[in-house]
Amino acid sequence: LKINITEIDIPLAFGPAFEGERVRGGDLFGQMGGSKTQCTELVKMAEMNEIEDGKVNVIGPDIADMKEGDVLPLGIYVQIAGREFQPDFEPIMERQIHHLVNYIQGIMHIGQRDISWVRVSKAAVEKGFSLKDIGVVLHAKFHQEFQKIVDKVQVTLYTGKDDVDKLTATARAEYKKRDERVDTMTDEDVDTFYSCSLCQSFAPSHVCTVSPERTGLCGAYNWMDCKASFEINPTGPNQPIKKGKVLDQKLGRFEGVDAFIKGASKGAIDTYNFYSMVHAPMTTCGCCECIAAMLPSCNGIMTVGRDYTGDTPSGMKFTTLAGVMGGGASSPGFVGHSKFNITQKKFILGDGGLLRMVWMPKIVKDEIYDRLNARGAEMGVENFADLIADETVGVTEEEILPWLEEKGHPALSMEPLIG
Ligand code: SF4
Ligand code: ZN
Repeated sequence: LKINITEIDIPLAFGPAFEGERVRGGDLFGQMGGSKTQCTELVKMAEMNEIEDGKVNVIGPDIADMKEGDVLPLGIYVQIAGREFQPDFEPIMERQIHHLVNYIQGIMHIGQRDISWVRVSKAAVEKGFSLKDIGVVLHAKFHQEFQKIVDKVQVTLYTGKDDVDKLTATARAEYKKRDERVDTMTDEDVDTFYSCSLCQSFAPSHVCTVSPERTGLCGAYNWMDCKASFEINPTGPNQPIKKGKVLDQKLGRFEGVDAFIKGASKGAIDTYNFYSMVHAPMTTCGCCECIAAMLPSCNGIMTVGRDYTGDTPSGMKFTTLAGVMGGGASSPGFVGHSKFNITQKKFILGDGGLLRMVWMPKIVKDEIYDRLNARGAEMGVENFADLIADETVGVTEEEILPWLEEKGHPALSMEPLIG
């Protein structure tokens, strides 16, 4: 028996019309995540008898317990059971949380995975918004939009710090497993890449193309996920793209991709390169995990993640970079990418690859430390992570250059970045 849900029982208006709506300073009542507190999302498959359909629990304080200006940690834990459901579908369902929460009037959602951010407006609170409504929406929409694979949905919203930290640790182990599913695949192994146009409501000309060695810039979709998404929904946002003729092996330009993005961006973008940020890089949208920027005096590049709010040697903070580059344009010298992508083999390989990396925030470096060293060693440099400057060394090119010279950073002896 399939459940049909047409009504969404929340005190606020709901629909795609509210997706692009912002909750700015003066309208803000309270928030969760956004580097103020931890905010994490996880979708996990459950056994049929393990969960109760439609059950939504808020464990810990809710909106009614907050004062204006307060922050709360938040963990959104969704369990799904279905005869046709597979663990491969978990990331796809999880990525829906972003636009579905944005569909609620007066609520804004940014990011994904363990870097999510929910902003609640005063208007929404006046109408009686509760965190429970997030669960009500996810339950209803998952049934509506994924009827084929979903039989039961149970949602738990944690707002106690310990619970959220526990969920975050579990979630990170899951994300790691998902990321590693494409670890041994190469772009040459496949003749089909996948598009992702989920972010076009915010960035109309933006089209991600996801290949085995280039995970989506939000970090939430890899090639396997897009493939599974296409299987669930053949007319959905993830379409197969035949690579076609290789137009530029080094920069990663493919005839089939160019033809596809021209159509999907409605003519705004003619071409982009998979493996370059200097020459016609891929388009960037606002939900990228990291943004890389050229540092010409260091003959290298830097990258900065959403969770670092300080200054960077590019002269711009993450929020400024995301604001300037995140509208769906292809901006030579800059590119949005996922954290995982930094150590994928094709990362800006056309510009010299990972060995160009001269600066990143300590928090990102620590997180991917072992992977940086492993990939560095593959490229011939041992202990590469220790050669990358961070904010403790400096936050301008002038400050970090002498340090890089002293360490003998490989980027300094590479061919000029802009040639
Ligand atoms: Fe899809 Fe790219 Fe948006 Fe991620 S950033 S949801 S891969 S369009
Ligand atoms: Zn996006």
